[in-house]
Amino acid sequence: MGMMIGKDRVMGPCRAVGHSASSSSSLARRSFSLGSRRSVSAVSATLESRDTDAASSGLDRLVITAPDDWHLHVRDGDVLADVVPHTASEYSRAIIMPNLTPPVTTTRLAEEYKERIRRQVPQGSVFEPLMTLYLTDNMPVDEVYKAKESGILAFKLYPAGATTNSDSGVTDVRNCFEVFKAMEETGVILLVHGEVVDPKIDIFDREKVFIESTLQVILDKFPRLKVVLEHITTKHAVEFLETAPDNVGATVTPQHMLLNRNSLLVGGIKPHFYCLPILKREEHRRAIVDAVTTGAPHFFLGTDSAPHPDRNKLSACGCAGIYSAPMALPIYAQIFEEAGALGNFEKFASINGPAFYDVPRNQHKLELVRETWEVPKSYKFGKDVVVPLGAGTKLNWRVAC
Ligand SMILES: [Zn+2]
Repeated sequence: MGMMIGKDRVMGPCRAVGHSASSSSSLARRSFSLGSRRSVSAVSATLESRDTDAASSGLDRLVITAPDDWHLHVRDGDVLADVVPHTASEYSRAIIMPNLTPPVTTTRLAEEYKERIRRQVPQGSVFEPLMTLYLTDNMPVDEVYKAKESGILAFKLYPAGATTNSDSGVTDVRNCFEVFKAMEETGVILLVHGEVVDPKIDIFDREKVFIESTLQVILDKFPRLKVVLEHITTKHAVEFLETAPDNVGATVTPQHMLLNRNSLLVGGIKPHFYCLPILKREEHRRAIVDAVTTGAPHFFLGTDSAPHPDRNKLSACGCAGIYSAPMALPIYAQIFEEAGALGNFEKFASINGPAFYDVPRNQHKLELVRETWEVPKSYKFGKDVVVPLGAGTKLNWRVAC
């Protein structure tokens, strides 16, 4: 293992998809502003250009074990052709979320969905979709054994109504205790959208309350169950993870390392920064960056890339979800670099996830080069367009071909 700098041969997947054209504008000339350890007041939210040379590692090339995305939404139907190649050109594997309409609740549905995804993987890509099932109140215990046998690695717990297409989710985790028992026995992993949905609980507190009221109950009852707290957003989650046993892990998105709630709400509402769990205060973002950039084994890459047609984002009741598949790796690399921790990037992107999931590390490599490029303003998304994270801004790192 070990990150290699220099002239190593690279056999990694390659960006196979051209970006849509984007014209220059004042926004387009800006760069992402990332907070640094030295400058807490440098609000990452503003997207104002700032000099990041001080935080530069001085490296121009980064060769890492090929990464995996441990939390991904690719949707279904026509749009698969537009989004799957973005992930397949940079990642070797991805955990595919099951929140379709209707949700992927059976092994057979997951196998069919996997086949539809596979058909959109470009030739020459080694990409493998890793399937999950959507937990419901009445999931039969037998399904755990069927899933295990067919190679399904995990089940996803959505509290009913917590996020996009979660209406069929679990109303009370006690309804799933028999299923959790079978998962604990078989080693099938529980992936958790860690937010309560009680209308009395403030949206900014929902992760903290979930950890205290629900996650702890599950772990007390099933101490050997492997659990991933998905897309963590708070210092409470970080503290929980840092003292949790080895069977508990967490994915971290680029937006929750990059942005805080000011990014979403100051100077006009920014629907393209709206996701769930919602962006939190700067102190939470800071705690996540500090913990994750140590390379600690609990934390691994999960983009939660979640495309929506732009018209559904720019709506009176806009959808939650940020599309980040094509630029998440450069953003993560930039965050690690600004934290002075580029040497730990490979652990987060490529080592910790396979170790937690107990699957082999990828054998081939992926190369990132220091090269400024501008994130396209939009990408084709079926008959619509999707506006990605950082649309029109400049990034320092680029995945090499
Ligand atoms: Zn998600």
